[in-house]
Amino acid sequence: MRITQDVMAMIVLKKMCMFLSLLSAISSMIACQAFCAAGKERDLKELREEMVTRQIEGRGVTDKRVLKAMRAVERHRFVGDHQVSAAYEDHPLPIGHGQTISQPYIVALMTELCSLKGTEKVLEVGTGSGYQTAVLAELAVDIYTIEIVEPLGTQAIARLKDLGYKNVHVRIGDGYKGWPDAAPFDAIIITAAPPSIPPVLFDQLKEGGVMVLPVGDYLQELVKIEKIKGKMVRTHVTYVRFVPMVHEKGK
Ligand code: SAH
Repeated sequence: MRITQDVMAMIVLKKMCMFLSLLSAISSMIACQAFCAAGKERDLKELREEMVTRQIEGRGVTDKRVLKAMRAVERHRFVGDHQVSAAYEDHPLPIGHGQTISQPYIVALMTELCSLKGTEKVLEVGTGSGYQTAVLAELAVDIYTIEIVEPLGTQAIARLKDLGYKNVHVRIGDGYKGWPDAAPFDAIIITAAPPSIPPVLFDQLKEGGVMVLPVGDYLQELVKIEKIKGKMVRTHVTYVRFVPMVHEKGK
């Protein structure tokens, strides 16, 4: 009888030990995961800082507000999981549906060309991942953005909402029509290339406003258009390569 009680006590003790070591393994796994995630976030912050210093400031972007926005917006949140480590590299990245998120420098350059002071209403055509939208949302009062590829638009709506942007309005549709009920805009930015400057969009630009876009087919020019006394004043910026601005199917 005594022996049976001792054996039972041993078994209970052994089970308790096993339970305790399991508990400690789980808690150290959780601690490690939190630690690794914190480490990863820190690495991504460093990569973002390097992106701004080398690729953007290093190429001559000087607008302090733009540099701050490029530091603030976490580009890795706008790409697929398998692209996170490439998010801060010096090139465009695929975002699905044959589309791309622009090179960080081009995003910064186009944003700087809009000369935003913080009071503007901006139209963006080509929401894509929503990255450029988020950068604009850091710098102006209201951003209206249009995406023609429905799944991209839906994903961008969810992403921008998750990130807490309340000054962004996303519409799924054809950007060639602009957003008449919200026009006129202080600035219009187009992140896909039309063959020539869309007249409807120029009409939706305020007097004194700025429009920044790539124009052309294969050889594309990044241009800044200003509306001065109702007329189009065009400035060549550089040569670029964007996806084409397309029309709605069957139109
Ligand atoms: N600004 C985006 C870049 C996306 S690439 C970003 O930061 O991720 C250009 C986008 O323009 C694509 O998503 C493409 O589907 C969209 N696009 C092309 N033609 C369009 C049109 N007519 N109206 C609205 N969006 C258009």
